Amino acid sequence: MRFHVIGSGISGSTAARLLADAGHHVEVWETRGHAGGNCHDECVNGVTIHRYGPHLFHTNDRQVWEFLSRFTAWHDYRHTVVADTALGRISIPFSMKTEQQLGRRLSDEEIRELIFVDYSVKQWGVPWDQLPASIKDRVPIRRENADDRYFNDTYQGQPAAGYAALFRLMLDGIPIHLGAAKDAWRRNRRPTDHVIYTGKIDEFYHCVHGPLPYRSLRFEHEWSGTRLPHSIINQCNRLPYTRFYDHAYFSNEHPVQTLVTREFPEAHHDGNEPYYPMPFGTGMETYLKYQRLAAAEPNMIFLGRLATYSYLDMWMAVAQTMTKIRPFIHSFIQQTRTNDNQ
Ligand code: UDP
Repeated sequence: MRFHVIGSGISGSTAARLLADAGHHVEVWETRGHAGGNCHDECVNGVTIHRYGPHLFHTNDRQVWEFLSRFTAWHDYRHTVVADTALGRISIPFSMKTEQQLGRRLSDEEIRELIFVDYSVKQWGVPWDQLPASIKDRVPIRRENADDRYFNDTYQGQPAAGYAALFRLMLDGIPIHLGAAKDAWRRNRRPTDHVIYTGKIDEFYHCVHGPLPYRSLRFEHEWSGTRLPHSIINQCNRLPYTRFYDHAYFSNEHPVQTLVTREFPEAHHDGNEPYYPMPFGTGMETYLKYQRLAAAEPNMIFLGRLATYSYLDMWMAVAQTMTKIRPFIHSFIQQTRTNDNQ
């Protein structure tokens, strides 16, 4: 079969690799000048820069880990985060370690006020009580132990040669049109071709049901001769940015100068990137209308944060892709098994 894969982020690239491995003809269309979507990184002055915000890999899914490990070795990276709060700088997620730092036990209500409310209102631009539990509870409270790792998944690490190198290997041998016009693929598509679409779903339908809301980020970068004491320092307060970070930590680098970035959340518009879907309230109502249109499309598969309007971590995007394209891979596996047996 012939597949057009629209977008070369982690969803599109995973789909492209698995479909190509299964013997399909695959062509990738990417509007940016590089593959890898927001995972893309680049080396500047000896520092691996996460151009679109920090990407820290973690999963409990062995199949996802093994798939990505075909394209990279991993730095043994253990992600920890601290936060500036009304009670000073503390470790998060809130754990017994945080209690020891504060010297007392806090109620759930106090933790919510200390860590979550101000940060979330800045991040999402809506009042706290309008946020869904899936966002409010995304960062856990660990009362039972002093584990200060941000993620406690079985598999954690950073690609040893960076994300860009990982994507280069993942897409090896697959034709990719970098810097393509947004709908160039539509002109090249034949009626029988299958399409994997990973762009914004509202844009795919020319916003017939109105634009979907997304949160975006503005980054302020500064080269500094002084390393931050921590990889990421969250701002659980009323300052206009949510976090600042030192990129050199993410790849275990020790440069003379490092890049420090501050993240300022803002509404998405034509001139910035749609980093976070907002799948709650009116955002969700609007998305369901697009989802109904998508469900009726022949030969189309929608994948990833933007096309399925969901707050997916990297591993979830890979897992979602594996599940949704399984019918096209499965038949190949069956066929090769039959051939092997003949
Ligand atoms: N969050 C918070 N305070 C923090 C960290 C996270 O309130 O110090 C909330 C906030 O709503 C945020 C969500 O938890 O959007 C998810 O945080 P995470 O660090 O997973 O965000 P990401 O790295 O995906 O931007």
